[in-house]
Amino acid sequence: MPKSPLVLFGGTFDPIHFGHLRTALELKEVLNVPQINLVPTGEPVHKVSTGASAAQRFEMVRLAVESEPTLVADDCELISSEPCYTINTLMKKRAEVGEDLPIILVMGMDSLLGIKSWSQWQQLTDYCHLFIVARPSYDPEFDAELQNFIDQRKVEDLTELSLRPSGYLAIHQLTPMSVSATQVRKIIEQGSNPRFLIPDVVWDFIKTERLYDANER
Ligand code: ATP
Repeated sequence: MPKSPLVLFGGTFDPIHFGHLRTALELKEVLNVPQINLVPTGEPVHKVSTGASAAQRFEMVRLAVESEPTLVADDCELISSEPCYTINTLMKKRAEVGEDLPIILVMGMDSLLGIKSWSQWQQLTDYCHLFIVARPSYDPEFDAELQNFIDQRKVEDLTELSLRPSGYLAIHQLTPMSVSATQVRKIIEQGSNPRFLIPDVVWDFIKTERLYDANER
């Protein structure tokens, strides 16, 4: 029986919200894997820090998945001594799991649209497959270089992602949830209640640590 692909869902998770968590759980179903690793970024490379430290963002992910054994808070970027580039994380994971196990890196369509700013972006698929979460009724325009990158790697059948260790790209739609970390931070800054957008344990942590509170800055 071949081992299941390692699935990495990376993000800033500043904070983690139900959009991330539902996506992770649905991914588990559509990819037919027993586990999804949520990988909070260490020091942000692509985003300006908005308040929570890497350790706090990791802790929020850990708390959010505590009661769901199929979702795992993965601290690999937190403990890394390398600069926090996705390509470094993938190299490390590839060394850990060996040459044969498929690795699937999940990202939203917004991340794919910005991928050309990532370090060694064209080499990402040397180490993993890319799984792009599409948005309904949103048909993005890619520039010629990115379109070519996609065309050379794209597969429609998700089972193909289990047949090779790396190299493919799949674009797939999951049930949309219109929530973003920006929206959650804004609600908190305004003194409003973010419940039902984020897990209660995460909201309790945010209050205890006084995160995102405009009055505290
Ligand atoms: P921000 O609002 O600060 O940009 P975010 O909510 O997009 O944050 P990130 O941590 O940047 O959260 O996202 C991590 C990954 O999760 C990205 O690939 C992003 O596309 C995806 N994602 C974010 N929000 C959702 C959502 N509501 N449903 C599905 N995927 C999401």
